[in-house]
Amino acid sequence: LNTDDIIEAEDSSIYLDDVGGMHQVKKRLNLTFLAPLKNPELVKKYGKKTSSGLILYGPPGCGKTFIARALAGEIGAKFFTVSLADILDMYIGESEKKLHEIFETARRNTPAILFFDELDAIGQKRSNLKNSGMRTLVNQLLNEMDSVEGNNEGLFILAATNLPWDIDSALKRPGRFDRVVPVFPPDQEAREHILRYHLRDTPFEDVDVEAIAKQTEQFSGADLAHLVQSAIEVVFEESLETGEARAVSNTDFEQPLKEVKPSTRQWFESAR
Ligand code: ATP
Repeated sequence: LNTDDIIEAEDSSIYLDDVGGMHQVKKRLNLTFLAPLKNPELVKKYGKKTSSGLILYGPPGCGKTFIARALAGEIGAKFFTVSLADILDMYIGESEKKLHEIFETARRNTPAILFFDELDAIGQKRSNLKNSGMRTLVNQLLNEMDSVEGNNEGLFILAATNLPWDIDSALKRPGRFDRVVPVFPPDQEAREHILRYHLRDTPFEDVDVEAIAKQTEQFSGADLAHLVQSAIEVVFEESLETGEARAVSNTDFEQPLKEVKPSTRQWFESAR
């Protein structure tokens, strides 16, 4: 595998069932990627195009990367994360070459998901100085996606951003990233699912997951994971002192609930 610090490859061991909530996102992923894979005869019959990419956007920590990884698990695809910001930091010419190499690596390892983190890094509005570099990189990305440069069969392209309004509109035209899908903070049901998911390897007793979910409105998935870790830490610390390894209980969440704050509010305020 030809990888380096700009591209990271992994085999995913999470699945869509691990992802709490996000019903609309799952539906979209199914329509765009999973259903066509499972129903090639229907794809043929309707002449459905399969190669377009998807942009996930929303506040940090709400599971954009997590669900992309889960899709990889579901398809049994290699998961490649690419940092466009890092590519953009290279010299003009170098960046395009690197991007091409990345696509080629992914093409050699299909089925593969190419996940572009921080797609906004090549947004138009952010920096005028870098603009010419960005333009050539955007064009290169479009070429690769249009498959001018190679065969994209078995290649699934997803991108994530916290700044959807910074995305170059050329990238959003049909045939490219033609769907822009919101990934927003989890609702009550999803929060319960996420809390349970993050408690899955921990012995716990009498934890009122429903009540904790009620008290954690506007928490991101990452905030909830952090909350659970904080409660685990309370018990872990105690067990170091007492030598007794008891189960995590509801009271262990009291202090963490006072300390962990929802991180998504700021994003919505800046988005207004
Ligand atoms: P960023 O914009 O900062 O890159 P993101 O939206 O990509 O954030 P993730 O990195 O996917 O967020 O989420 C961070 C962590 O929060 C995940 O690794 C996972 O542990 C947890 N998490 C987030 N959403 C969910 C969810 N729906 N179900 C289960 N866990 C979740």
